[in-house]
Amino acid sequence: MADRETATGTLGLVQAFVNTVDLEPGADEFNDPSALGAWLVARGLMAPNQSASEADLKHAIAVREAIRGAIGANSGGSVYPVDIATLNGAASASRLVPRFGPGGKARLEPHADGVEGALGRIVAAVFAAMNEDDWTRLKLCGSPTCRWAFYDQSRNHSSRWCTMASCGNRQKAKRFRERAKATSED
Ligand SMILES: [Zn+2]
Repeated sequence: MADRETATGTLGLVQAFVNTVDLEPGADEFNDPSALGAWLVARGLMAPNQSASEADLKHAIAVREAIRGAIGANSGGSVYPVDIATLNGAASASRLVPRFGPGGKARLEPHADGVEGALGRIVAAVFAAMNEDDWTRLKLCGSPTCRWAFYDQSRNHSSRWCTMASCGNRQKAKRFRERAKATSED
């Protein structure tokens, strides 16, 4: 959706990864291993001569949904232990280690290559983004069927929907119908 707010930089990468599936129509960009591989190569997370397997695809989707769970904490949700275990597992499997760059600034880089390493780079991006002030602006849409990760640009961090035009109004209409129903049943 063109009018959904997007973040830039590291946070933008995390947001783009989580939003590779649009749950409302159920369209998943990662619909087969080669699509996953192409996405990771296009973002420089994996070398072009490496590829993804069916097991990698399952793993990547699990990591994606675990990150969605972690973002949910920014919109008042609780993070499930299974999501935390998945993120810790991806960090361990990719063997993330601190690396100091030429400017002396450190970041986490994976020892593993292939999809495991690429997922490590995404976990490292989550780690870096969590240490930035605007991490809490990355939220999940309040519509339970949408759960799109959106960047809350409102001054007081109060946005609840990916777009007011779609999900916001739909949720409002739903509540209105429920209230009307409750009244008519009285
Ligand atoms: Zn939404």
